[in-house]
Amino acid sequence: MCLQLEEVALNKAFLLQGGDCAELFAYSSQESIQAKLKVLLQMSLVLTWGAGLPIVRILRGAGQYAKQSNQSQECAKFRPRSSPTEFVDGTHIPSFRGDNVNGFDISEREPNPSRLVDAYFHSAATLNYIRALLSSGFADLHHPDEWSLSHVAPGQMKLEYQSIVYSLLDALRFMNMIGADNHQAISSVDLFTSHEALILEYEQSLTRKLVDPRDGSLKFWNTSAHFVWIGDRTRDLEGAHLEYIRGIENPVGIKVGPSMDPEILINVMDFVNPRKEPGKVTLISRYGSKKISEKLPDHIRAVQKSGHEVIWACDPMHGNTKQSQGGVKTRHFVDIVEELSRSIQIHKELGSNLNGVHFELTGDAVTECIGGSMDLKDEDLGDRYESFCDPRLNNFQSLDIAFLIANYHRN
Ligand code: PEP
Ligand code: MN
Repeated sequence: MCLQLEEVALNKAFLLQGGDCAELFAYSSQESIQAKLKVLLQMSLVLTWGAGLPIVRILRGAGQYAKQSNQSQECAKFRPRSSPTEFVDGTHIPSFRGDNVNGFDISEREPNPSRLVDAYFHSAATLNYIRALLSSGFADLHHPDEWSLSHVAPGQMKLEYQSIVYSLLDALRFMNMIGADNHQAISSVDLFTSHEALILEYEQSLTRKLVDPRDGSLKFWNTSAHFVWIGDRTRDLEGAHLEYIRGIENPVGIKVGPSMDPEILINVMDFVNPRKEPGKVTLISRYGSKKISEKLPDHIRAVQKSGHEVIWACDPMHGNTKQSQGGVKTRHFVDIVEELSRSIQIHKELGSNLNGVHFELTGDAVTECIGGSMDLKDEDLGDRYESFCDPRLNNFQSLDIAFLIANYHRN
């Protein structure tokens, strides 16, 4: 994976990272995993066609089970909370902190450490099923019709998607004719896993000294995921989270919000990646559509001056959370698109490059974000609002976004 991310940092590949905000243990089921994998594969097909680059896919899942109390306090379905506890039926109970810590049901709010063992089981089971799917032909490019949009009504998006699939099948037929289609990349794809390294006791217990395939030396690796990231609320230079990730060899992400000082950003990168390895650090920027134009340029300039070769990924979700009329957390498609487009433009203007994207999404037809080609309205949110934390793009909105990015690259 390190090599693939190095390619991303050097603009020879594009990064697609996506999945739930708060994954539940219950999501380690066949339907849920297949739906998520399918939408990531569909998106990456569209992105490959648009960007003309290989796509490095990272699932935000198979272990994304922990939320900070001041993240979950904003949990979506329920009234916004302003403390690690919430007031229910006359008593204060702990807020939901993700399946790693406690249960959503109010009878299960006491933190329970044995959940960490369950977390290991569910992430291993999820990963196991992903492996089985990928090796059984689910991602075989000879059959992209398996990821067809069969349940989508005919429309512009469906036509565009089908035309990409047809031209891909044409290209494969040609490769078959000249005997060039026996490459492993055609019959399956790589898919890496990731989550926020929030509960350090869990991460630490799954950290092992292993041989570094690059030079044969023994080094520390986090074995709970291929890639872990540090959230915008735990990226303190003096804090334990950065201290932990600087000790591991895995590629890591750092969320960069509007309060990040450009000078501190460079100190953080010098601390985490002193050898300045290209692609070791992914900066996942998340300012919000209103703040990106003011914040991103200084961060890009600071990185350019520092000599670090980072992956710049845009998370257009976390700076764009709003309350719906009914009082639940939502995000407007137009804000997401605005932040993403500004990010692409600003990088271009400064001689930099947006190397990837980070989304909260699901393969199901949920109704959590407003807008997109299906034109979801505020009053539709109640139909299938299923997130236990932040609102996710549904399968159609995710594809809409993939087309949008693809079109940016093609124009
Ligand atoms: C998240 O990714 O779910 C999250 C809380 O992000 P951030 O740290 O950027 O707020
Ligand atoms: Mn979130």
